Amino acid sequence: MSSPDNPSGRAGASSLETFARDHLVRLGETSLRRHLIPTVRGPHSVAARHGRSLVSFSCNDYLGLSQDPRVIAAVQAATALYGTGAGASRLVTGSHPPLAALEERLAAHKGTEAALVFGSGYLANLGIVSGLAGPRDLILVDALGHSCLWAGARLSGAKVVRFAHNDLGDLEGQLAKYRSRHQHALILTERVFSMDGDRGPIADILCLAEAHDAWTLVDDAHGLGVIGKDARAPLEMGTLSKALGSYGGYLCASRAVVDLMTSRARSFVYTTGLPPASAAAALAALEIMEAEPDFAARPLALARRFTARLGLPEAQSPIVPILIGEAEAALALSAALEERGYLVVAIRPPTVPAGTARLRVAFSAAHTEAQVDALAEAVRALGFETLPPQRERVR
Ligand code: PMP
Repeated sequence: MSSPDNPSGRAGASSLETFARDHLVRLGETSLRRHLIPTVRGPHSVAARHGRSLVSFSCNDYLGLSQDPRVIAAVQAATALYGTGAGASRLVTGSHPPLAALEERLAAHKGTEAALVFGSGYLANLGIVSGLAGPRDLILVDALGHSCLWAGARLSGAKVVRFAHNDLGDLEGQLAKYRSRHQHALILTERVFSMDGDRGPIADILCLAEAHDAWTLVDDAHGLGVIGKDARAPLEMGTLSKALGSYGGYLCASRAVVDLMTSRARSFVYTTGLPPASAAAALAALEIMEAEPDFAARPLALARRFTARLGLPEAQSPIVPILIGEAEAALALSAALEERGYLVVAIRPPTVPAGTARLRVAFSAAHTEAQVDALAEAVRALGFETLPPQRERVR
């Protein structure tokens, strides 16, 4: 900051530079520094990187719908009608017709009374969790819950307790210990865990929640449309950016809860509405997903084909982790696969716990069986079998 003693503000700037550079060096030393790598996506799961065309297994476009001509046509039509941006927050003039149509369709899809579209899945969780719970309440979060569930919990000011991943006994113990001291209790979990691909025991969690008078929010970001039927929670949230191939987030819940969030979720109230074309894309994608259930089952079938080929535990979702351990080793395997024409990005801490760096393989309806088999062969050829069995690698 400039001051009479320091008119240019340079000392402040240089301590900022030192702070940033020192941190970058430390991140680099542990293979945890991140870089943006330009990637050009195309149809059929092809992505160009470093001037090379690769088969991508690192995209959440599980049904390939972001490249579907029908979805692209819906975007073009909505853009021509409504322009490129919402122009204002939803509560001012940003509630364009495709948003209401999408909300109605999402609610029908999930079987809830109502739905509310947010700017992104991250914003949805921030707003829903901090809009429902406050300092007198208790929030219980699965240890592997997504960053935005934790961020929403912390923002709420509630007492936040972690329960061991998918561990009903631990969840019950935490409820027994803390529930009675708080006004409301909210359990946060995921239908499909984003970095492990395993599934939350939703029906059992709902039973526990009922027994302890707790509410349950299920993050369905990676489950929508690709894993079939599951128990429904009173609070179902998700994203438009994965199987629906667009951008944005949503909450499906009762009319009263949706109306309350419309007035109270700060990440809904104080931000510009989603571009109408993004809502139109998600709506078109949802219609295709509902009309073509066989096609929606394909990513999971391909993931199971892959796990069977490599002798891994059977895939529970289109996401298959190959646990490696150290970040450097995960980066090396990813680079070696890229050499062979496959894009499988390494996932490192803090996205996953220390010592559990991995390749996260994501399957899409746009992949062919031959591509899946060839990737399995490439992983095997790169010495996958010399790694300890997946189960023995510590979390
Ligand atoms: N929840 C989970 C489980 C996710 O994986 C993600 C996205 N990575 C989000 C929420 C956030 O969704 P969005 O990308 O729409 O912000």
